[in-house]
Amino acid sequence: MTKIGVLALQGAFIEHETMLQKVGAEPVEVRLPDQLDDLDGLIIPGGESTTIGRLAVAYGLIEPLRQFAQRKPTWGTCAGMIFLAKDIGIDRQPILGMMDIAVNRNAFGRQIDSFETDLNIPVIGDPPFHAVFIRAPVVTEVGEGVDVLARLNDGRIVGVQQGHWLATAFHPELTHDDRLHRHFLSLVSRDKS
Ligand code: GLN
Repeated sequence: MTKIGVLALQGAFIEHETMLQKVGAEPVEVRLPDQLDDLDGLIIPGGESTTIGRLAVAYGLIEPLRQFAQRKPTWGTCAGMIFLAKDIGIDRQPILGMMDIAVNRNAFGRQIDSFETDLNIPVIGDPPFHAVFIRAPVVTEVGEGVDVLARLNDGRIVGVQQGHWLATAFHPELTHDDRLHRHFLSLVSRDKS
């Protein structure tokens, strides 16, 4: 069975595990470096990127996570997207810094820091994906080799893919739509073959 790790330091990791079971993969909670062994892919959940970063430093996970993501498909949702990005505009916050994207944390300000909207995501087809945004980031710049998967109506980028890395500003694990989880599994099986 395909084993997908879910970084379980803080945030919405249980919901990702439920979704992974639904799409036929085996979820594995990751809190320590050796728990990355034998995994086929990894999801970094939403939560609070500063907390996830601090705990990842405390558990000696930063370098092992970088090495894992270098080799295997890795998907960051919301705080996970921030954690994967190369540029978050803040120097002190620990991140993995892998994907060629710049993100703006808490891009939607206080008034509308949480909202839901339907997104067209061509890579998963019709119908539109009902996306839940919770104090979400947006992608402000993408480097060469980064594909834009999803935009808000105003054009702001909220879903990207770069090789075997996927990042979404919203929370696909909080809906019943499993198409993005299946898309991630397709990157994992492509990578395995
Ligand atoms: N605002 C959070 C952060 O900066 C992300 C929110 C989320 O993951 N839902 O980490």
